[in-house]
Amino acid sequence: MGLDAFRERVDAEWEVIRDTGLKLPEQEVERMKGFFPAFPVDADAASDASFAEHEANDPAFARWVKNNTVETKHDGYRSVYVSLKAHGQPPGDVTDTQLEAIADFADEYSFGEARTTHNQNMVLPCVKQADLFALWNKLREQSLAMPNIGTLADMICCPGLDFCALANAHSIPVAEAINERFDDLDYLYDIGELEIKMSGCMNACGHHHVGHIGILGVDKKGESWYQITLGGSASNDASLGERLGPAVKQEDMADLVENLIKVYLEERQEGERFVDTVRRTGVAPFKARVYPEAA
Ligand code: SF4
Repeated sequence: MGLDAFRERVDAEWEVIRDTGLKLPEQEVERMKGFFPAFPVDADAASDASFAEHEANDPAFARWVKNNTVETKHDGYRSVYVSLKAHGQPPGDVTDTQLEAIADFADEYSFGEARTTHNQNMVLPCVKQADLFALWNKLREQSLAMPNIGTLADMICCPGLDFCALANAHSIPVAEAINERFDDLDYLYDIGELEIKMSGCMNACGHHHVGHIGILGVDKKGESWYQITLGGSASNDASLGERLGPAVKQEDMADLVENLIKVYLEERQEGERFVDTVRRTGVAPFKARVYPEAA
């Protein structure tokens, strides 16, 4: 389909749905459901006691369960995030050996199903809780069990100048510098939910507009510089981030993120995530710390 024909089709579809509130026809809902057949779960899965025993006796396992798994609608089953954010590797990268292993884990533990996520991780959607301890040990052997889902270290990072022909700036080395700066899991847990999203150009494959901290790479005379936005979100409270100020150099990025986190920790109120604090205070206190000369 040519570009003009594609535009015409999009315009025609928009005319049909623009006043409908995007309500999907029941027939379409049923068609989509057909792609997700019900898992043949064990109705007694919740009765197993070994999961609770492992959780009580192994803090590292309990930490992984808390951060990298979520309950499902099936009693005794959890969805497992396979973290592709191990230290020392580009966010979202996975080797052929790891992929083979994930496929095997899906077959053995999750009814043959594995999914990718837009946050650059993978999910085994329905794992019996009695199998979680064995699965955790196998994921650890493959460096796929870093308990950092939802933390600052779980950032989205596009390939940037290292692999993408369209890029203006590097992304992966910036992610690496930030990860090296924030390598203490307890500190990451104290910071709490924080989404960093980074793109190497304005095409925005890293969704930087909707990052709690958005990072956009720009080219300045052949060097990588970065524009920062704060307060974006792609969740139900969706918003675009607000630009913080002038672009900063690559070598200053880890310091910049650390300063943003310090302001958040000083300013936050009980129960506030980073993005909540930014929304309450505005970007001014963050700007004053990052650009003191402009204050
Ligand atoms: S945002 Fe730009 S640099 Fe990054 S993957 Fe997309 S096109 Fe490439």
